[in-house]
Parts: sequence; structure tokens; C-alpha cells
Amino acid sequence: MSFSDLGLLPELMRAVADKGYDTPSPIQVQAIPAVLAGRDVLAGAQTGTGKTAGFVLPILQRLAADQGHGSSRAPRALVLTPTRELAAQVAQSARDYGKYMQLRTYQVFGGVSINPQITALRGGCDILVATPGRLLDLAQQRAADLSKIQVLVLDEADRMLDMGFIPDIRRIIKLLPQKRQNLLFSATYSDDIRALAERLLHNPLSVQVAARNAPIELVEQRAYRVQKEQKRHLLVHLIQEGQWRQVLIFTRTKHGANRLTQQLEGAGIQAAAIHGNKSQAARVKALDMFKRGQVTCLVATEVAARGLDIKELPQVVNYELPNVPEDYVHRIGRTGRAGANGEAISLVSSDESGLLRDIERVLRRSIPTLPTPVFKIVESAAPLARENRQPQGQGRHAGHGQHGGGARREGGSSERRDSRRAPTGARSNTGTRSFGQTRGRGR
Ligand code: AMP
Repeated sequence: MSFSDLGLLPELMRAVADKGYDTPSPIQVQAIPAVLAGRDVLAGAQTGTGKTAGFVLPILQRLAADQGHGSSRAPRALVLTPTRELAAQVAQSARDYGKYMQLRTYQVFGGVSINPQITALRGGCDILVATPGRLLDLAQQRAADLSKIQVLVLDEADRMLDMGFIPDIRRIIKLLPQKRQNLLFSATYSDDIRALAERLLHNPLSVQVAARNAPIELVEQRAYRVQKEQKRHLLVHLIQEGQWRQVLIFTRTKHGANRLTQQLEGAGIQAAAIHGNKSQAARVKALDMFKRGQVTCLVATEVAARGLDIKELPQVVNYELPNVPEDYVHRIGRTGRAGANGEAISLVSSDESGLLRDIERVLRRSIPTLPTPVFKIVESAAPLARENRQPQGQGRHAGHGQHGGGARREGGSSERRDSRRAPTGARSNTGTRSFGQTRGRGR
């Protein structure tokens, strides 16, 4: 299936090609023809599935085909979103996909001054993207004319419900023409969503696409080149320097997961492992402790992590790169929270360069490799440390800032370092970093 099979106008095809998309996503394959045909749609699709293009493209096409609406230019399509970020994102998509058309998109949301929005709405637009509360204010002030709306989209309807927007949405719907097309997108189906869908939609096409993870765009990706045997030291450094509180770490093997867990514990960082040798109950328990913040690190193998509900994490670390590039996408999709970016960090040893290249090929983008910060090498007596976390470690010195293969040393490599362990979350006072690259995300 290609975009040209979906019946889109050449202007839209061009805009899609500019974006670099070659094939439509499953939600697009199903939703675009239905929306073009004027049908109501109930779509179970989360962010990351390409849902926005799934409704924006056909809406643009329908509006372009029907331009004879006088000079008032009251909006003809209304997209309601739960957050201002999503409103801005959807509006930007509409501008991007509609760049070869003469259609105007405008977004309104709360938290900013209303007056510029009133002025802008007077100028007219074709697509209005709005959060419900602000739209109601604008409608009450007669700044938003909703009497010409032909298509209503509820985007992330479940979140709007959770955020208590339903009464506002009901009020908005009363201001719309009775005869219109309705599209409802929701990542989850609760009874409330079903009830809303029943009230709102007429003979809808139901589309359900497999839940995917957060879109790659929301994940800040970076890589460090580091020798295999030094990875654990760099990881400890990153966790301590960044004051990471919740980090999911992927290893390739069960044995590797166990070993790393012990090593982290030895460095004073609470960690738990989940892998196939552990019972489901043990895995769930580890996950629960992780979610509650009782352990900082969850060290997981790919397969074990797959069956668990782990998402919206601030940090994901690829301690070892996966052999299959798609697994990388899967892994890093665990991060990226609503309204905030997640970080995915890959520790890449020289023998993994090929894997990194494969991943970049699949992503169609390069992953920035940052200079490896100076980190200390702490050889800890793991069993001792596990029995008693507080005492000082048997640290060895030496900070190595080096790129994979160990060919280059950077700043302060010969510097002796204080090898005291910092307890998890405490700022390590082991002195300077040669490169201020570890951007921590305090929670
Ligand atoms: P969405 O689920 O609408 O938030 O989209 C997620 C991301 O996928 C956005 O960054 C889009 O630019 C991108 N995207 C949408 N459709 C496609 C496609 N057919 N091919 C590749 N990327 C796409």
C-alpha cells in the first residue's frame, strides 16, 4: 500500500513526500479513505502511530474541495485536544501537510493571553485546533464562530476525559451544526469512551491499531563510545551525575542482567533484574518496586521487558545494543512521557558499531555520539556492598574519558579521582567533568 493508493490529492502527496514518508502507517491506510468518504471514525490509536496524518490529510482534502463558503472564513474543521502541546503539534502538522494548499490553520489554548487569539480568529481560518476550556471562552466572547464546522475531531479523547473536559466538550458540541462528520481518537477504551463514542458517532468505522510506543521524536537519543569493560563505570557515573531516579537498562543476556545488577548495587545504586529466569511474580514485584521508586534501576532483557507495562520513563539505557534494530525502537519507546521528552542513552563499544549503523539506517537519522565524560573506575566488592550499602567502596582511581576502542583519551584522563561512592541520587563530588555532556533529568 502506498500513499497514492489512498486517493490523496497531488498537493498532499507532495507534502507527504517532503516529510520523507514512503508508506502509510496502518492507521492511515484505514482512516484516510474512510474520512475522505465522509464517514465517522472511531480509532484506537496512540501517539506514534501516525494518527495525526490519518485525520489531517483527508480533512485538508475535504476542505480544499469545498472552498465556496463566502468570505467569513469561519473554521470548518475543529480538532479538540487535551493539551496545548498536542494542539500546537496538530496545528503544525496541518500546516506542514497543507503547505501546498491555500488553507489556514490556527490553534488556541489556555495559559496564554486570549486577546491575540481573538484578533487572529477574526482573520479567519479553515482548521481550528483547540483545547476545550479556551475554545469555550472564545465562543462565549463570540470570537470563535463554530457554526460552520463540518468535521469534529476529538484527539486523545481518553485524556480529555481524564482531565475532566467532558462537560466542556458537551457544551462545545451544542455550538456545532448537527450535521457534521465526527472522528474520535483514543489510546484506550473505557466505558466512558464507549459511551461518548455512542453519543457522538454515527455508524462509525472502527479502527484499532496495535499500540506502539512513544514517537521517536519525543525521545532524545544519544550514544557514548566506551570500551566494553568500562561500560558499567560510565553507567554509574551517568546515573550519579545526572541524579537519575528511574532508569530502565537493557542488557542482551540474563546473565548480563544479573551481573550488572550486582555491579550497580556494589556501587551503591539500588537495582533489580528482570529476565526470563525469574518467575512472573518476581518480575512483577521488581517492576512494582521500580515504579514506586524503591529501586533506581531496572535491568532487563528484551524479552522480559516486553511482557511488562513499563512506559513513560525518563531514561532508558541500552547497555548493549540489540541485534535487531526494531528492538531499539521498541526499547526507547519506553521513554518519552506526555509533555516531556525522554532520554535514550546507548553505550556503544567498538564491536557494536555495525549495530549502531543498522539502527541509524532503520531510524533514518543518526544518533548523536557525545564525547564520553570523564568517569571514575570503582572496583567494588559487590557482595560486601550488597550486604551493606552505606560504607565506602574499595575504590580504585582513574578517570577515563575515552572513545570506543580506547584510542583517544580526553581531558583529565590521568587525573586521580576521589573514588568515594555517592549514594544513589546524591551528587557525586568527584570533581569536574571534562565535557559537560551528562544532562541529568532530576525528577
Ligand atoms: P502521530 O502518531 O500522529 O503523533 O505521529 C507520530 C510520528 O510519525 C510523527 O512524527 C509523524 O511525522 C510520523 N509519521 C506519520 N506518518 C508517517 C508515515 N507514514 N511514515 C513515517 N512517519 C510518519
